Amino acid sequence: MNERDGHSDEQVENLAPIRESVRALCVDFPGEYWRGLDREREYPTEFVAALTKAGFLAALIPEEFGGSGLNLRAAAAIMEEIHAAGCNGAACHAQMYTMGTILRHGSAAQKKKYLPAIARGELRLQAFGVTEPTSGTDTLSLRTTATRTNDGFSISGQKIWTSRAEHSDLMLLLARTTPKEKTKKRTEGLSVFLVDMRAAKDKGLSIRPIRTMMNHATTEVFFDNVQVPADNLVGEEGQGFRYILAGMNAERILIAAECIGDAKWFIEKASAYAKERVLFDRPIGQNQGVQFPIARAYAQMRAAELMVHEAARKYEAGEDIGPEANMAKLLAADASWAAADMCVQTHGGFGFAEEYDIERKFRETRLYQVAPISTNLILSYLSEHVLGLPRSY
Ligand SMILES: Cc1cc2nc3c(=O)[nH]c(=O)nc-3n(C[C@H](O)[C@H](O)[C@H](O)COP(=O)(O)OP(=O)(O)OC[C@H]3O[C@@H](n4cnc5c(N)ncnc54)[C@H](O)[C@@H]3O)c2cc1C
Repeated sequence: MNERDGHSDEQVENLAPIRESVRALCVDFPGEYWRGLDREREYPTEFVAALTKAGFLAALIPEEFGGSGLNLRAAAAIMEEIHAAGCNGAACHAQMYTMGTILRHGSAAQKKKYLPAIARGELRLQAFGVTEPTSGTDTLSLRTTATRTNDGFSISGQKIWTSRAEHSDLMLLLARTTPKEKTKKRTEGLSVFLVDMRAAKDKGLSIRPIRTMMNHATTEVFFDNVQVPADNLVGEEGQGFRYILAGMNAERILIAAECIGDAKWFIEKASAYAKERVLFDRPIGQNQGVQFPIARAYAQMRAAELMVHEAARKYEAGEDIGPEANMAKLLAADASWAAADMCVQTHGGFGFAEEYDIERKFRETRLYQVAPISTNLILSYLSEHVLGLPRSY
């Protein structure tokens, strides 16, 4: 076993070069870099450019389209290392996986047109418009509509929490093409579109940033008769909900890996501090009252990490991974949040000081209890689909 990562020897051997190169890249983006951006709520342009140049964001794009053709386990290792180094992959993780919807459901022409440019980093597809202010988690009640015109669709409505919209060329959008009451199945009638935001800005599309408790570049996006060519419909009209759900498992595994990275960062910081901070003539880490929460956070992180590996393994084997992807996200988000709380406590007052980066990471990792899916909705999924309990909504 590798002490820091807790991976088996075989995994360390396979993924070690990728992990090492991500770590090496992250050295150039220390705490001061993130603190400065956090204060001003600015986008980490240089960091994203470095990841793009190194090819990490094209990890999941097959080689035939110019990507690295790596598997989900490798992609998860990249995101984990970014977070374990104290950086934040939320600024660009969607560039890695949003293209999966085109890869799985797009036409040959769409794949040829978009994937190589995304792989080269010339085209940014990292805005994902699903959530709306009135419907929230109840995706099937979303109100943004796409109405057929002579040569395409006209889109009207509003999205909220559309992260990175100001730093993306394209948006993957879920909109209603058939009114709810006219569909045969309740999951039908929604369609997925690729919206070229460069063309649509000032032609009905407007973006308003939302300031949040952490630096996340999230926004509200308004559509007022935005024209989208018919060629930009992804897959079959009316089947969009199914396509979006299919992409969510990969997203959950990658975000769970980010949480594991965060948990490792908090545990490493807390262990180091507990060894060096001397009070009452001994390191605070000599007190079991300080040791035990760190050890507990470590055990919790390792258990969650095993579930992340299991989910990624099943994903690669093409098996149904709904339960594992959801449990990985739930357990990893809980582990990172518990580790964050423990890390603040271990540092006492210094845990609150900006220059230690702990309070920043604490705010950043809190998000994963809510997004991209909230803890309650995962518990509800497990209750109904795994345990067979009555459907609650
Ligand atoms: C910073 C940030 C970035 C985001 N980025 C994106 C993005 O890029 N694209 C995008 O589409 N969305 C994005 N989201 C939206 C995110 O996915 C949602 O916030 C999340 O799914 C919860 O939806 P909601 O905020 O509407 O909460 P609501 O659906 O209003 O829920 C509120 C609370 O009630 C609970 N709840 C609701 N229904 C039930 C139920 N039936 N049983 C039990 N509990 C329930 C929820 O768990 C939650 O805690 C982002 C959100 C944030 C905060």
